[in-house]
Amino acid sequence: MNGRAREWLREIPCRVGEIAIDRGDAGRWILTHRDDRARAELHPHDGAEAAVELARYDDAGNFRPLKTAPNLRHGWRLVLADEQEVERALDFFYPARLATWRSWRAGELRTTPLRETLERQSGMYRVTAKITETQANELVANFCRSDGGCLRTILWRRDATGTLPSTLLPAEKFDPQHDQTGRGEAALPLLCQEACNLLVAASREVVKSTPAL
Ligand code: SF4
Repeated sequence: MNGRAREWLREIPCRVGEIAIDRGDAGRWILTHRDDRARAELHPHDGAEAAVELARYDDAGNFRPLKTAPNLRHGWRLVLADEQEVERALDFFYPARLATWRSWRAGELRTTPLRETLERQSGMYRVTAKITETQANELVANFCRSDGGCLRTILWRRDATGTLPSTLLPAEKFDPQHDQTGRGEAALPLLCQEACNLLVAASREVVKSTPAL
């Protein structure tokens, strides 16, 4: 590795979410799905822009609205010219996650409690502020869980008093040192500093489906 290597590329293979990053020849870098590192027959791609399409659909061809969902497609190998290209590709796979990690490492990341996120909603999402504590506890557990939901590490709390986002999630879900893919390897965490739009939309569905008392 040359002296300019990014601080997050110290460990090779570097793992980010479901992606493994290895060194190639002539200073190039190779990205694959972590499940595919040992596979010989992978469809070749090159250039960071290829990540846009690779991140768009899952193995079954379904659109992936949540880029940090654990359903990145398999079977590809992405060759990148330098570390800058690796960062660009990661930004297509996992938008803004590298910048968020850097901000967190610098102690500058601001997190927003779920209640604050819901209370600032307007229009058709204003109703989300009515979600009950029990409903929020269950929704976050189902929607954000790492096995089938989302690979981000949750840093936000449910309210300003520091209530856990969900008592139904394991403690590892809130631990940036934990590999959320369940492989138990060192991995750069995909951090969640604030409830995403999809969780807000799901909150609306929960509230709307609650029978009026
Ligand atoms: S709120 Fe965060 S952890 Fe939950 S699904 Fe959205 S991005 Fe993932």
